Amino acid sequence: MEVRLDGKSAIITGSSKGLGLAMAKEFAASGADVAILARDPAGLAEAKTQVSEHAKAKVATFQCDVSKDEDIKKTVPAVMKEFGKVDILINNAGTSRAMTFDKITDEIWQEDLDLKLFGAIRLTRLVWPGMQERKWGRIINVLNLGAKAPRAGGAPTAVSRAAGMALMKILSNEGAPHGILVNGMLVGLIDSDQHVRRHRTAATNVTYDEFRAKMGANVPIGRIGKAEEFAAMACFLCSDLAGFTTGAAINMDGGASPVV
Ligand code: NDP
Repeated sequence: MEVRLDGKSAIITGSSKGLGLAMAKEFAASGADVAILARDPAGLAEAKTQVSEHAKAKVATFQCDVSKDEDIKKTVPAVMKEFGKVDILINNAGTSRAMTFDKITDEIWQEDLDLKLFGAIRLTRLVWPGMQERKWGRIINVLNLGAKAPRAGGAPTAVSRAAGMALMKILSNEGAPHGILVNGMLVGLIDSDQHVRRHRTAATNVTYDEFRAKMGANVPIGRIGKAEEFAAMACFLCSDLAGFTTGAAINMDGGASPVV
């Protein structure tokens, strides 16, 4: 079974690092044109070099803060100009922001919703008409386990993610008659730049390998995930091989979620 995305073009948000970068490499190697979106220009330049090594089609970078409507309104037309169309949208950009309810101000709630929920809404709004016209589209909302299993100290992220999951389900039903398939991928613990940063600032003597092993100790599979494993699933979901899968919220967590 060969997973191919030839002739398709993809926007992947938050793809200068971590899971987004792994998806950009996988999608590009599978034949798709790939638009790399992030905020930091240096990160974008480095990502372009890395993704281009694997690419079978075009790779372009776009400086875009997806929590800002004005950035999205500039970026999507620019991607369309570059590639002619957008067939695949991966709403991946995000941060893990989790604290107890008493600490969350309106400003924090709004920032989290702007980034994770409104980012996905606004990007989808702009790519949806073209997907409808061409009768082919794929959208993935990258979420976390809190979307299905919120817990104490898990807001605001779990709330934004639950909303992202509801949005995914609604879009999947509205998109299905038009050939637009929409799914969610719920991340448990997967190796990425955010964990490298966390290790760097943790003021600890343990090596990154030890830090990572400790994180994976309570995961049923016995380790945290690899970004490449996540990217492989995303690529499959965006291919024609997954043509009957829509409205699914898939746990990518080595069995860690308490719920299915
Ligand atoms: P990383 O921190 O490793 O990478 C995040 C990427 O998103 C970077 O490219 C960053 O670039 C970009 N980004 C961040 N904020 C914005 C923004 N406002 N607009 C555009 N781009 C942005 O994260 P991961 O790869 O680990 O995470 C990917 C997704 O998975 C996120 O939504 C995250 O919350 C979720 N997740 C990941 C988990 C994990 O274990 N890895 C666990 C649970 C959820 P720049 O800073 O230059 O903008």
